[in-house]
Amino acid sequence: MIHRIASLFVLVGVLGCEGIQDRMMERAAQQAAQDDRVEWLDDGALHVVLCGTGSPIPAEGRASACTAVIAGGHFVLVDVGPGSYNTIGLHRLPRAHIDSVLLTHFHSDHMGDLGEIGMQSWAFGRAAPLRVYGPPGVKRVVSGFTTAYGHDTGYRVEHHGADIMPRAARALEARVIALPKHGESRLVFEADGLAVRAFSVNHKPVTPAYGYRFDYKGRSVVVSGDTAKSANLVRNSQGVDLLVHEALAAHMIEVAQQVAAKAGMKRRAKIMADILDYHTTPVEAAEVASETGASMLVLNHLVPAPPNAIAERLFLRGTADAFAGEIVLGEDGMHFRLPADSDAIHREMLD
Ligand SMILES: [Zn+2]
Ligand SMILES: [Zn+2]
Repeated sequence: MIHRIASLFVLVGVLGCEGIQDRMMERAAQQAAQDDRVEWLDDGALHVVLCGTGSPIPAEGRASACTAVIAGGHFVLVDVGPGSYNTIGLHRLPRAHIDSVLLTHFHSDHMGDLGEIGMQSWAFGRAAPLRVYGPPGVKRVVSGFTTAYGHDTGYRVEHHGADIMPRAARALEARVIALPKHGESRLVFEADGLAVRAFSVNHKPVTPAYGYRFDYKGRSVVVSGDTAKSANLVRNSQGVDLLVHEALAAHMIEVAQQVAAKAGMKRRAKIMADILDYHTTPVEAAEVASETGASMLVLNHLVPAPPNAIAERLFLRGTADAFAGEIVLGEDGMHFRLPADSDAIHREMLD
């Protein structure tokens, strides 16, 4: 007990020391002033960072849907769910260089941070308008965010000056992707060795809903967006290196649904029953990975987000029987580096 009281006095003494406070502040400022990871833009590798692996259900440490792809001088975001800008900033992704956002569909958990991404990337020095690609309907979405952020754009130009905050660079440019029928993909853009394609997936009644494929110097990644198990995704993802696929553990949600029903929580029970039919179970995602010949399966949009190792095992139950490759439960801040013309996939958690 005496020891504890003594250490408490020491702690209070340390906290009260102004020299230590000042040094901490200086260190924090030095960390904040560190450059963004601009070297990733053109180091010959395909980089993928999970900026949001959650869903509409709040989860500790997880933003909603967002996946960053960086290669060939381009920084592209697939979906920008609520909280994703925070993850991008915390991990010092090269914000001023975001050139495109690809929306998979218009559920709020996939686009809630579009306003913040547009505003903050501009504040950080984005020098050209931000292209926002998506299914038909994207113009209305972009127009709404532009209107909502209109006052703030004006404040910043006035406060910092048009040299620092040029209005022309602030714009969000809506680009509609209309897909051919019969499940074929369409090239969204191809530049500097990076080719991006869109294809339809099955998220009915949300139509259309897209997945995206990126190819760069012999390496590839597919981001599924929200979908039930999709034969068209399999068709458009053949031979992919990294498959980032959504997953809803139906065997876990069904238990929660039954508990809610028994407790008389009709609204919650109904919604839980409804969501089962337009997502993919972890075992189905593993089957998809197997059918595409993917090297690695990364699960995101985790419903429910497993809070501990036991829940993670439960979430992944049966997946190893369906896919022989590595299966990764995605976490915010997880970085995959795929060097050009190689089979390697390096994985790390960013600081
Ligand atoms: Zn959705
Ligand atoms: Zn979603």
